[in-house]
Amino acid sequence: MTSFDPSALLVSRSNSADEGPIIRMSQRARELRAKGQDVVSLTLGEPDFDTPQNIQDAAAAAMKAGFTHYSPVMGIPELRAALSKKLKTENGLDYAAGEICLANGAKQAIANAMLSIIGEGDEVIMLAPFWVSYEITVRFAGGTPVVLHAGVDEGYKVPPSRIAAAITPRTKLIVLNSPSNPTGAVWTRAELLELADIVKAHPHLMVLSDEIYEYIIFDGEMVSIGSLPGMGERTITVNGFSKGFAMTGWRLGYAAAPEPIAKAMGRMQSTISAGANAFVQRAAIAALEGPRDEVERMRLEYQRRRDMVLAGLRAIDGVKIGHIPATFYAFPDVSALLGRKAGNHVIDTTDALCDWLLEEHALATVPGTAFGAPGSLRLSFACSETEIAKAMERLQRALGSLG
Ligand code: PLP
Repeated sequence: MTSFDPSALLVSRSNSADEGPIIRMSQRARELRAKGQDVVSLTLGEPDFDTPQNIQDAAAAAMKAGFTHYSPVMGIPELRAALSKKLKTENGLDYAAGEICLANGAKQAIANAMLSIIGEGDEVIMLAPFWVSYEITVRFAGGTPVVLHAGVDEGYKVPPSRIAAAITPRTKLIVLNSPSNPTGAVWTRAELLELADIVKAHPHLMVLSDEIYEYIIFDGEMVSIGSLPGMGERTITVNGFSKGFAMTGWRLGYAAAPEPIAKAMGRMQSTISAGANAFVQRAAIAALEGPRDEVERMRLEYQRRRDMVLAGLRAIDGVKIGHIPATFYAFPDVSALLGRKAGNHVIDTTDALCDWLLEEHALATVPGTAFGAPGSLRLSFACSETEIAKAMERLQRALGSLG
């Protein structure tokens, strides 16, 4: 009898769906902790706060009231109406309730959007440093990522003129993420107006604007590109509840787009998973319409941590860090340190640097390679001030010891 090898059945798509370095590094940190090591982990992009009580109560009440069944594929009408109002009043966006499709997290909303409009050979412009899922999802959809880079000296924002130069007749989408994971960069109104003019000059082009960090801004203003003149019909706006409301485990996000695209996203949602969780959608209404004191308290807490991290990083020779106007991430450029020695071992990549920081200094970080920027490290400061103080001390000691 011939032997059966299940792995021989795998297609390239499943191999490209790597768990990714963020999960890998956080997993290794957890394993070392389980062995009794005092590891500080700055890996996960996840609020360390619990979901505000009023949202938890609304979910419990919804469950008791029987919201435990399948929900409409694109979301319950009350939530879609509440989101239409939120997008109008908070973001200046005009999306009718029928143009909003709920999903199990912003991640799935992004996949719904890309699978709806990207096909074989379509080009998608991605602005590195970027959140790694965009690239994988574009490839899943059969598209070709076109990656443009900006460094710390450009505030990690690719100038619109460089974006214009990269547009071809195959370019269908530009992915914008402001505020940005991993850099915390926020695009200004003037920069977005310049980008909007470029998009409007190309009849085949849209923007996917991922605004999931909109409630975690410390300096500057949240501007939704879809609110700029003529951009409503050119923008798929993605958002979700995970970050601002500390609801990562609840899995609820959404995308808003002109109706034909919204309906196509609904068909993707229907095919892959059916409507998002029913009682979580009731809780989301409470999140949107209830008090925002907790959201603000968390923002102020992140801001204090941001200040600690910035001060810590600025004290290290060879580390370049700009301002961090938003999010809970720092993305220091450490390229000047690569090639130096730890003992007699040369550290020539950020992947090697991250391994060494974890193994020798009990500090878990994520290499910039995961974000299309191999000269940097991502540090998440969604953890306590005590952990941050320890992390900064370890980083200073470790990097200071490189010869
Ligand atoms: N977009 C960005 C930029 C993110 O950083 C993340 C999560 O890390 C997501 C989307 C996904 O969020 P969700 O938990 O809603 O799927």
